[in-house]
Amino acid sequence: MKIYADNAATTKMSRTAVDAMLPYMDEIYGNPSSLYTFGQRAREALEDARGRIAACLGCEARELTFTSGGSEADNQAIRSAAALGARKGKRHIVSTAFEHHAVLHTLKRLEGEGFAVTLLDVYENGLVTPEQVRAAIRPDTCLVSVMYANNEIGTVQPVSEIGAVCREAGVLFHTDAVQAAGHLPIDVGPQNIDLLSLSAHKFHGPKGIGALYARRGVALTNLIEGGAQERGRRAGTENLPAIVGMAAALEESCAHLTENAVRISALRDRLIAGLAEIPHSVLNGDPAKRLPGNVNFCFEGIEGESLLLLLDDKGICASSGSACTSGSLDPSHVLLAIGRPHEIAHGSLRLTIGEETTEEEVEYLIEAVQDAVSYLRSMSPVWRDLENGKATHII
Ligand SMILES: *Cc1c(COP(=O)(O)O)cnc(C)c1O
Repeated sequence: MKIYADNAATTKMSRTAVDAMLPYMDEIYGNPSSLYTFGQRAREALEDARGRIAACLGCEARELTFTSGGSEADNQAIRSAAALGARKGKRHIVSTAFEHHAVLHTLKRLEGEGFAVTLLDVYENGLVTPEQVRAAIRPDTCLVSVMYANNEIGTVQPVSEIGAVCREAGVLFHTDAVQAAGHLPIDVGPQNIDLLSLSAHKFHGPKGIGALYARRGVALTNLIEGGAQERGRRAGTENLPAIVGMAAALEESCAHLTENAVRISALRDRLIAGLAEIPHSVLNGDPAKRLPGNVNFCFEGIEGESLLLLLDDKGICASSGSACTSGSLDPSHVLLAIGRPHEIAHGSLRLTIGEETTEEEVEYLIEAVQDAVSYLRSMSPVWRDLENGKATHII
């Protein structure tokens, strides 16, 4: 039995995406910048893909810039807004404590360059409110960056309302929509979004390709110098096979968005109910305002890493949080941001299911996690103290 329950880390490419890409690797391999007809066929495919992705987001094709993925798009969005702000003497940025590191580390860098950053606290349910954003905006604020859906606990932020607050204040609004694209509806106009990042490998497209939407009139700062590709906003020969694969994957995901969300969130709720039966456990993040496929729990008295290894033995691919932080022994900054104490945050498990997950797999997951948690607790001196009353349960 092999169960892939780590779709927040990356997803399997869809057959549609693979098939769409193949001709651009072995037949139409020209450089889109070449003037001869063969190159121009590649150019047409590039612009066709851009138009199709734009249609999924409700923007114009020219408002999209292809990047190497979500991290680059986040970096470019924030750096661009910062540069625009600095020109007007505005050097304050508002974001949240539970953003992806692509956002947080870029902000840290900007602090070193003289910007002031306010990171909003996140409520225990994993949400920030438009009121918090409104209260944090100052006369010198140039950017608000709040993620659409969190990659660890799956909570979905009120982006339209936050966007409206920013619009009213005349501040640019960026959202890291890497976990949302292909899974939740996106329509940048009505949602008041100025800058949006996405990444193909989170919606069954290829790795190493993403896009940055920048509303017309929002000038992007070029992070990679070189040729004039992407209208001077991102140098380097375009990764055409990946771009075509991203367009195919996004179109497919968006065409089935509602039915997938309904089916997957029913499986998610069954999984949550099964894991909630484990004593001294807690669900992280709002039970309803979360991504259809995200389940994230803390179990008292265990180490998340040991749990992952036991689950791996049972053929289960899971995560204790984000793939980017695994390998470090620090507890997740997201779980700390929602107020979980260190010792609880260490015992976390993220299961992210998807289109291919079956009911049988969900039942197997529940049983496997229940067994593994009991086993680890039976071996744990920490747990023995808790049971003997020498230490007090926190959850
Ligand atoms: C995966 C992820 C990223 C990074 O995307 P890459 O394409 O892997 O660089 C950024 N933000 C969020 C929320 C993510 O889940």
